[in-house]
Amino acid sequence: MTLETRSTCPYCGVGCGVIIESQGSEITGVRGDPDHPANFGRLCTKGSTLHLTASATVTRQTRLLQPMQRLVRAEAPTAVTWDTALDNAAGKFAQVIRDHGPDSVGFYVSGQLLTEDYYVFNKLAKGLIGTNNVDTNSRLCMSSAVAGYKQTLGADAPPACYDDLKHADCLFIVGSNTAWAHPILFRRIEDAKAANPALKIIVADPRRTDTVEIADLFLPIQPGTDVMLFNGMLHLMLWEGWIDAKYIAAHTNGFDALKATVRECTPDKVAQVCGIPKEDLLEAARLFATSPATLSLYCQGLNQSSSGTAKNAALINLHLATAQIGRAGAGPFSLTGQPNAMGGREVGGLANLLSAHRDLANPDHRAEVAALWGVPSVPEKPGKTAVEMFQAAADGEIRALWIACTNPAQSMPDQATVRRALERAEFVVVQEAFATTATCAFADLLLPATTWGEKEGTVTNSERRISRVRPAVPAPGEARNDWSIAVAFAHRLERQLGRAFTLFPYETAESVWNEHRESTRGRDLDITGLSYAMLETAGPQQWPLKEGESTGRVRLYEDGVFPTPDGRARFVDTVYKPVAEAREARYPFSLNTGRLRDQWHGMSRTGTVGRLFGHVSEPVVQMNAQDMARRQIREGDLVHLTSKRGSIMLPARASAEVGLSQAFVAMHWGEEYLSGCSSNGTRLAGINALTTPAYCPTSKQPELKHTPVKILKA
Ligand code: SF4
Repeated sequence: MTLETRSTCPYCGVGCGVIIESQGSEITGVRGDPDHPANFGRLCTKGSTLHLTASATVTRQTRLLQPMQRLVRAEAPTAVTWDTALDNAAGKFAQVIRDHGPDSVGFYVSGQLLTEDYYVFNKLAKGLIGTNNVDTNSRLCMSSAVAGYKQTLGADAPPACYDDLKHADCLFIVGSNTAWAHPILFRRIEDAKAANPALKIIVADPRRTDTVEIADLFLPIQPGTDVMLFNGMLHLMLWEGWIDAKYIAAHTNGFDALKATVRECTPDKVAQVCGIPKEDLLEAARLFATSPATLSLYCQGLNQSSSGTAKNAALINLHLATAQIGRAGAGPFSLTGQPNAMGGREVGGLANLLSAHRDLANPDHRAEVAALWGVPSVPEKPGKTAVEMFQAAADGEIRALWIACTNPAQSMPDQATVRRALERAEFVVVQEAFATTATCAFADLLLPATTWGEKEGTVTNSERRISRVRPAVPAPGEARNDWSIAVAFAHRLERQLGRAFTLFPYETAESVWNEHRESTRGRDLDITGLSYAMLETAGPQQWPLKEGESTGRVRLYEDGVFPTPDGRARFVDTVYKPVAEAREARYPFSLNTGRLRDQWHGMSRTGTVGRLFGHVSEPVVQMNAQDMARRQIREGDLVHLTSKRGSIMLPARASAEVGLSQAFVAMHWGEEYLSGCSSNGTRLAGINALTTPAYCPTSKQPELKHTPVKILKA
């Protein structure tokens, strides 16, 4: 008999609802959930092949099915019982903490964990151990969006929703290949354009991606020049009288300082820095400011930058200056990369955040969280963010690392440093569903985790909508749910550290959820009214949803009141700064990295489905045809792609998407497909052998979108 289970797609932040079909312990099919408000039954190529990634054959070939341990690094890991594995982990962590203090350990988790998993890891680090060294691959994904929202609007809260697409008169898509990275959302953009042909779509991106196909106006800006573009648009809005002076006066602070900065951003200067015609700049400013409702959609092109926070803030400045916010079809809407980067932010699972959007730097917030958890205090010292954490491990400062549901040996920039960190750390725990990730090879202890189709909890998508994730089949082998692994470890560590009572009394994912939602009481994301029972009966809901309310809030700031001390939004004085590492004579190309349509992250899941290679079958470097001709590189020739940190070799492909002196390589290909080496000969894999660890000073998000490289025929 076929059973049907409603759940959520585990890939991107669109957060599509799925119906899983299963027979016994086998997932046999998947289809879109027609009742889910994110997708109304649609799925993209990745979502619609999910069942193929969960077959018995794939499970046997790819999954980690029992705890594995190695006591000597040169030896292969051997199977151990859960009790042995967790006892050893707790003993080792306790010893490191006793000998070197709480900040000598670190947890690196994932935007693909569920909210309940994230909550437990955050409490484990900050509440039990007393370190803020818990960060996540969401640092590589959304931390600039977080900082941009907080600086301007006062809270990390996307104010718009998917439904706004059909109310918008102008869409401004910046640094986002929505057509590939958020395919089902792009279907809604196509629907909106079909229903309203007068809808104007502007796309700004260094690459002419598939998303550009739908644009009325394309701005092929030079890499990293977004702040100059936005400031230049504001310059023209001021000159032409397109700003909304009444809204600015009634609802904002700080406009005068910004006015002085954008005065310098003349059309001539913007045209020269961004590499776009002045007429197109003027048209973009006009459409943005004068359309009845303008919605911006943006993603990693803004976030993965050494100016990530400034880029986000400069774009939000435009919305505030023109009152394009707090109305149907208007607002700055950051698209989430991962399925639950939002949930991780909500529980405070980053090195500088606390539960329910509280700030680590705020003593009142620390005291509130300590009281909620029943601990004397929460440590004040900011934790290490992703790049800092691996640098600290490479330097010997962090000695024990716990990595859950992510693959930093492939996905972090400057792979040589990350691999050095994993080798130098005294003890590395990798909690993973898949045995095939590059990071598994560095583990002293491998802990098998459940994954999509097997686990239970919640996720939050880009539009603040919380959906349930439900198990359709039993966990394979000895795999356990991520939150329960963290709880079982915490119980042992509590005993090791001599704690008399447990901070982790959870028996179910729902009990973790209930503690999390209580922690949001009175906060901007208050979900005290949102129980599992309500999600069961009323379906996915947007936050906030307070106790006593029956639905969540579709759109924020409709009353013009912002979650700042005086209720007013804040313009940020965004001064343009170029990319961290400029192109130069020895490294004359700007390397950009990003997603393909049919692959996901390090391919541990999508790489098991043959048909997903039909779109792009192998890693290549995309180059402009003129650059190839000038260097006598022909289609398919192997080239060495080299940065200051490493070198990889791969075929060249001419692409009309890529501008002169630019190159693009997809982020997905790892060890089996794309090997390389560091400048001192260490073996590396994938494009992050080359990328820079330079990061935004505010968000600490690394600049994965720009690395200077040279390209030489092999
Ligand atoms: Fe999954 Fe994203 Fe595709 Fe929806 S758009 S099916 S969430 S990958």
